[in-house]
Amino acid sequence: MTLENTRSKSSVSSVSDDPITLWLPECKTYLDELIFLEGCSKSAGQLCSCGALSISFRCQDCLLPLLSCCAYILQSHLNMPFHRIEEWNNGFHIQLGHRPGEKCCHPKSAFDDDFIIIKIHGIHEVSLDFCGCKHEASHYKQLLQAHLFPAIATDPRTTATFGILKFFHLLSFESKVSAYEFYHSLAHQHDNTGITPIRDRYSIFLRIIYKWRNLRSLKCAGCGHDPASASATQEGELVLLCLACPHPGKNLPDGWLYGIFLAIDVNFHLKRQAISSDNKDPGLSNGWSYFIDEKCYKEYIANNSAVTQERSACTSHNTVNMADAKLSQGFAATGIGTVDCARHDMKLANGVGDLQKDKRYLNMDYLVFSVLFTFTSLKVINFSYDITCQWHKKLWGRVPCLPPCLQPDLTGKIFCFFVPKFHLAAHIEDGWRSPQMWLGEH
Ligand SMILES: [Zn+2]
Ligand SMILES: [Zn+2]
Ligand SMILES: [Zn+2]
Ligand SMILES: [Zn+2]
Repeated sequence: MTLENTRSKSSVSSVSDDPITLWLPECKTYLDELIFLEGCSKSAGQLCSCGALSISFRCQDCLLPLLSCCAYILQSHLNMPFHRIEEWNNGFHIQLGHRPGEKCCHPKSAFDDDFIIIKIHGIHEVSLDFCGCKHEASHYKQLLQAHLFPAIATDPRTTATFGILKFFHLLSFESKVSAYEFYHSLAHQHDNTGITPIRDRYSIFLRIIYKWRNLRSLKCAGCGHDPASASATQEGELVLLCLACPHPGKNLPDGWLYGIFLAIDVNFHLKRQAISSDNKDPGLSNGWSYFIDEKCYKEYIANNSAVTQERSACTSHNTVNMADAKLSQGFAATGIGTVDCARHDMKLANGVGDLQKDKRYLNMDYLVFSVLFTFTSLKVINFSYDITCQWHKKLWGRVPCLPPCLQPDLTGKIFCFFVPKFHLAAHIEDGWRSPQMWLGEH
């Protein structure tokens, strides 16, 4: 090894060992550069790139923050309407339906000449003209063709760029950021002082995201190419299957006796107040993915509303005993019930539904058999549920109450019922029979 190699290796290791210590002496230079960029920086005393003398405009988003004249900066941003120009005047218009620089003979201003675009650099109030030339598409289509998602199809006044919607969609999965926090971060990016507040479009942003997610899942599942249109999508079709679970005909040779483990649980924190109606605010998924189809589910609950739930013979499980007594007034949902793949922690198609009261067996029966609809040819089904000891007792007696399409064919199937180990101590010993498990063979 040469001396030079040794030296370069040792300098690399010291940079990675003490990155902050090494940066400290440069801190002032960094700060000076930041302040320098706030002024004219290198443009002081210079001409514009076009040769003009008066230079007073600068773009915050272009790589080099050089000052330019008005004509030059307009010309260089014809195809970059979202770049933020300092000292911008009000004469700027976004023209849809034509190539940059091309004139529209019949421009039509947005409704009330009031248009807002939500994008990664903040929330922009802009002047936008639709194209009114004969060949042009409807206004909302012109927006979609420009990668802008309109909040409504008639007289749109608010849009979000496709880029920001994709970004928020990913961010909500990876960082769990809420739409509220995200939207208000954008609003603060526009104006962090509160001197020029922008009108609140948060509820509109929520509606855009709602539609965007639905369209993305339809697109990803290939439903956009269905000749019968996306409305022909079948229940559970948009779901990502649990790859490791056995799916006969897909990842399982014929005749193999594989079983699945289903974890049944509820969450009482996910309450929803009854503040709207299905007519005014309908769901978009119609049972196409994880949530069950609300219409059939609610019909089933209404038809069986007179059924009283028997009391727990094990320890007094409050959620079981109080299920009918619990006040649900003012709530459209008092929680959610869910049936998951227990081994791989995946949500399953049509395995999630609202609860109207606490742990009602009726709700959970519906969810369990909706999920089993995907696994009809499996022979062994294992259920893990913290109140299995009570829920499974009259399960088969309740099955005829289910809609006929959900009633399982029980021939040759083995059903095993488990209590999760963590919950065992809360049950009386009598209920255990063989520890943790009850077998129900058919
Ligand atoms: Zn720019
Ligand atoms: Zn035109
Ligand atoms: Zn699985
Ligand atoms: Zn028990």
